[in-house]
Amino acid sequence: MVVHLSHNSFFALPLFWHVFPLTRSRIYLQAEHWKVWDACSDALITFDKENLEDEMAYIVENDIVVAALTKQLDALSDNVQVKYRSKVVKYIWPMPHHADSIPWVQIKLANGDTLKTKLLIGADGPNSMVRKSLGIPTVKWNYDQSAVVAVLHLSEPTENNVAWQRFLPTGPIAMLPLSDTMSSLVWSTSHQLAEELLELDEESFVDAINSAFWSNENQSELIETAGSLFRGALSAIMPSAGSPRQLPPSVAGIGPKSRVMFPLGMGHASEYIRHRVALIGDAAHRVHPLAGQGVNLGFGDVTCLTQLLSQAAFNGKDLGAIHHLLEYETERQRHNLPMMTAIDLMKRLYSTNVAPVVLLRTFGLQATNMLPSLKVSTACFVHLNMSSCTVPWNLVISFSISTTCQSSAPPPTSPLTVF
Ligand SMILES: Cc1cc2nc3c(=O)[nH]c(=O)nc-3n(C[C@H](O)[C@H](O)[C@H](O)COP(=O)(O)OP(=O)(O)OC[C@H]3O[C@@H](n4cnc5c(N)ncnc54)[C@H](O)[C@@H]3O)c2cc1C
Repeated sequence: MVVHLSHNSFFALPLFWHVFPLTRSRIYLQAEHWKVWDACSDALITFDKENLEDEMAYIVENDIVVAALTKQLDALSDNVQVKYRSKVVKYIWPMPHHADSIPWVQIKLANGDTLKTKLLIGADGPNSMVRKSLGIPTVKWNYDQSAVVAVLHLSEPTENNVAWQRFLPTGPIAMLPLSDTMSSLVWSTSHQLAEELLELDEESFVDAINSAFWSNENQSELIETAGSLFRGALSAIMPSAGSPRQLPPSVAGIGPKSRVMFPLGMGHASEYIRHRVALIGDAAHRVHPLAGQGVNLGFGDVTCLTQLLSQAAFNGKDLGAIHHLLEYETERQRHNLPMMTAIDLMKRLYSTNVAPVVLLRTFGLQATNMLPSLKVSTACFVHLNMSSCTVPWNLVISFSISTTCQSSAPPPTSPLTVF
């Protein structure tokens, strides 16, 4: 599996430069173009690196992100204790206004250990036990789709610097560049088709992928005519606008055992914080992968929280105090909610082949593609995932993080425990 990192997320990971200077010749790939088109009309939008101030995106294998983070944690072993293969079975929460309440969060692990902490950061994913155990209200629903991911071998070596995405009525299919000969597939589709795709032999699976990128079976003459008339009218007004058509590379095979399926859903916690607790990542917000923003939103949370906690530590404040946690919640909800709404709307807009909706999105996509300023704004919003918290983060979280203390005395600000 790969992650598609925005410019901000990538440069919020200074550890990449320290950890992997020489070990691999290519640890990431810059996607220099992003081409998105509609299977029902062939309306296309292209984002090019040349038109943006920063890089479009970086495609990084998940194993490499995890290895880099692990190495960084090892380098911080004086201050960070990692408890691998630990499972939390219970949390006991402090009650700020009860005199006889415990002052710190208590965490009970499956091996019987108990940890105490001033601040618990819940990074335990979409089914977060931290969130559920606190009873934080969450808006969530399952989509009618699952995503099938796989590593793809291309038919022939190419420059391969384009991220391709086609919106089929059953869901988007995306091919993200990994190297000259390999790409990564994220195919969101109905649960039934996803299950069938997993069962197919390799040759039929490859045929299904090529057909999903190339076939015109979802197009109608009426939409095609209306689309080309509209495109013609726009070209007459702006002759230099638009971009030449390019075709995606064809797929010849898949990586062994690389086919996996994930059910998709959306969720948003109405509160990201409570007394001595902060939620980050999918524990706070879960999105459809069509814009490749899930991890990026999580990294944005980490950047923001790190900045506020560093400030609090510098000023000698209690890290678990509600004041700076509230700032974190406000900042991140203000950023995450519009992004989540846009992603959900996009999912809905493209999940239908009803003619008026297809026409509307065809005209919208063509017009956006031909208006450079609108296109750059869209790219900045969706892809570069601009955030007002700009301090690079230096703390990495994979599961749940807490600053802990093993006794009943007030916990120190370190060590940090990750489990
Ligand atoms: C098909 C697909 C493609 C995607 N592609 C992209 C992409 O290109 N770019 C992008 O930015 N995002 C992408 N995403 C989204 C991204 O995968 C998620 O946003 C991200 O994994 C969330 O990270 P997280 O650490 O918050 O949660 P998770 O990855 O869910 O991690 C939570 C961790 O907490 C652990 N945990 C849970 N409960 C406990 C417990 N009680 N005790 C101990 N540990 C516990 C779990 O074992 C797990 O390891 C994609 C998602 C999918 C499904």
